Amino acid sequence: LLLAYDPARRLARLQVGLERALVNARMIYEVLDMEPHQRDVPDAVELVPGPGEIAFEKVSFSYGGNAPVLRNVSFTARAGQTTAIVGASGAGKSTLINLIQRFYDLDQGRILFDGQDVAKVTKHSLRQAIAYVSQQPYLFEGSIADNIRYGRPDASMDEVVEAARLANAHEFILQQPQGYDTPIGENGVTLSGGQRQRISIARAIVRNAPVLLLDEATSALDNESEKRVQQALETIMRGRTTIVIAHRLSTIVNADCIVVMEAGRVIEQGRHEDLVKVENGIYARFYQLQSGQADLEDNAISVEETP
Ligand code: ADP
Ligand code: MG
Repeated sequence: LLLAYDPARRLARLQVGLERALVNARMIYEVLDMEPHQRDVPDAVELVPGPGEIAFEKVSFSYGGNAPVLRNVSFTARAGQTTAIVGASGAGKSTLINLIQRFYDLDQGRILFDGQDVAKVTKHSLRQAIAYVSQQPYLFEGSIADNIRYGRPDASMDEVVEAARLANAHEFILQQPQGYDTPIGENGVTLSGGQRQRISIARAIVRNAPVLLLDEATSALDNESEKRVQQALETIMRGRTTIVIAHRLSTIVNADCIVVMEAGRVIEQGRHEDLVKVENGIYARFYQLQSGQADLEDNAISVEETP
């Protein structure tokens, strides 16, 4: 966990060592909207976010020209709805999320954000329109308020506090030695996993983006923390387009649309009520197999192995 602070410390000295700071571009991007590999196309335009519809159109992708990781993937995450991505480990779920943020260019197909090709808009405008909550929230050395405000650097203190309240973080923040000014990181307080997640959710709330990308945590939080994180997520998902790599059964069952992936392909998609009725359907079998509390990735693997 300490490792997670390391790029952060460099980040704090960003002006000085920008190049060196880009060691872990993905982590840093979450905060600063930068990523070294993908440049804007010469005539890139600003994304004009609308209601936040994300559409994959026959997307194929491989990392560096190696074996395809996504094959002809098409689905639409409708504005304001929750789309759950499910599938075994290695199926390509995280890759989907990465491509929406344009960490890589596609081999084929298009990804549209409110009808605009993400490859043709500026990265900055694209990422301003997206909030990303990862499994292992990345906090940098700095105050709690700074960490939240990085979601939108011009956010006022009132907005920071309001976001923290909505993220179920306000109370534990006030209990810290210097409240919102308490430093976190190696020279500050150590926060629990659940507290870190709630800070990261507050950061996403401050960002107030129409699209939320969420990699649902698999790591066990204590019950109370889990409940508070879950409540916070429900708050932030409301009224936003959410694409969630889903591990919790309740997230999957309640999603407006479930996209089932296997080896880089979308093999089924639809609502829970419909997918459970598919005869010999992968999702239906998964749902029958699991006992109500199991982890989807484990079960998806056992589904695959069932002859
Ligand atoms: P999931 O999130 O469903 O577990 P991923 O999208 O992380 O799946 O990975 C899909 C496939 O792409 C896997 O075979 C994985 O090994 C490969 N992969 C993921 N990231 C990279 C990368 N940066 N470079 C090369 N291959 C990768
Ligand atoms: Mg993944």
